[in-house]
Amino acid sequence: MPILPIRLFGDPVLVTPSVQVVDFDKELRTLVADLTDTMMDAPGAGLAAPQVGVLLRVFVWDIDEALGHLINPSLDLGEEIQEGEEGCLSFPELRYNTPRSMRVVAKGWNMYGEPITVEGSELLARALQHETDHLDGILFIDRLAKDNRKSAMKEIRESEWFGLANDAGINPQIKVSPHYTFGKGL
Ligand code: ZN
Repeated sequence: MPILPIRLFGDPVLVTPSVQVVDFDKELRTLVADLTDTMMDAPGAGLAAPQVGVLLRVFVWDIDEALGHLINPSLDLGEEIQEGEEGCLSFPELRYNTPRSMRVVAKGWNMYGEPITVEGSELLARALQHETDHLDGILFIDRLAKDNRKSAMKEIRESEWFGLANDAGINPQIKVSPHYTFGKGL
């Protein structure tokens, strides 16, 4: 399976809302397989289709030794909030405390078009929220407290990868550092 280039912050595809999947066909199953392979190669804890330039409501995760995927998700967020560092494969090496709901019930479909429900807490809940945000063109820096967002933007501007996003065909190989998500971005 091909490993796809991961789009970096600055690429307009990351802030464009994705459309619902209509055809649960072989092409969709190939996309899920390619997303999974690309995520595991990175390595990452989650990856959404827009991060590889595909504007479809599909994402995958690899959390607690379990692979999963969800299509056309809708989330029911618990009221309790968790704090904790979060990263994203589209922002190499960037880590910031990002408040998220502690518990999530996600409904959607698997790649065979069967309805599924995924209940997650802690890291899985964080990933489900992070990846669903990607499908709406929302990035984790949008969820940061004001001061953190300001320092994140400064860090991004000073990073070695910033500005590479729009150079077609360039996929900088930057590995993420160890961290709360076991060194994996989302
Ligand atoms: Zn991400």
